[in-house]
Amino acid sequence: MDERTISRSVEITGVALQTGALVSMTLKPAPPGTGIVFRRVDLSQPISFKLGEVLAGSSGARRTTVGIGEGAIDTIEHFMAALWALSVDNVIVEVGGPELPGLDGSALGFLKAVKEAGPVDQEKTKNILRVTGTVRVGNDDSYVMISPSDRFSVSYTIDYPVASIGKETFGIDLTGDNFEKEIAPARTFCLKREAEALLAAGYGKGADLGNTLVMGDDGPVGNTLRFPNEPLRHKILDLVGDLYILGIPIKGAVTACKSGHRLNAELVEKIYDKYLPR
Ligand SMILES: [Zn+2]
Repeated sequence: MDERTISRSVEITGVALQTGALVSMTLKPAPPGTGIVFRRVDLSQPISFKLGEVLAGSSGARRTTVGIGEGAIDTIEHFMAALWALSVDNVIVEVGGPELPGLDGSALGFLKAVKEAGPVDQEKTKNILRVTGTVRVGNDDSYVMISPSDRFSVSYTIDYPVASIGKETFGIDLTGDNFEKEIAPARTFCLKREAEALLAAGYGKGADLGNTLVMGDDGPVGNTLRFPNEPLRHKILDLVGDLYILGIPIKGAVTACKSGHRLNAELVEKIYDKYLPR
């Protein structure tokens, strides 16, 4: 398999879910070996960083951040999942603010944009990371781990104290194609009982009932689910995006239980330490 970039530039504009600001990002083609490079172009001195070279990112409980200091960029996980699904290795991502657009809360808008940009093979063999032993983080109650496998599979268990989500496991052998159909449409969510507290804490200023499922006991408030287990599928979407922050695709069998961005980031750090020492 060869590395891939995009054929032409494409711009994506939308409201950032956390800050509520309107933000634009531009994806640009990049030569083989470039990697995924983010650049904050709204700063008077633009700051660039390449995934895999900078710290994966301090990850908050509700989103994943990459970069350091004032060059940091929030909420990149849904975009990263789209890059993974379309197998893009080399791209420059210019961002006009500290957070990516939220679009509809899923990965669909990012997938559409990257497709429009025309993913194309390059003349360099793709780097793929294969774990040779199990890497695990977390405790007995909540954890995420990856074990050797020729495929990339995810088995995820969630357990929420809300009847409309509850306890459930979903497993899938992921390919770019089935990701697009089974996982990419799943939107971000929060619990109805925590929605007001999150808003008060300054989260979700760009969130509305269209781009965030507000889950009550009977289901989402003012919305309809795209899958009966849409929140669980969204957790898998987040995990796929969080893992691609490694900067290269990984093969392995991932098992997660009540994980989140923070634990996912810990796993990425541990994989870096073991397989990609900086
Ligand atoms: Zn998410």
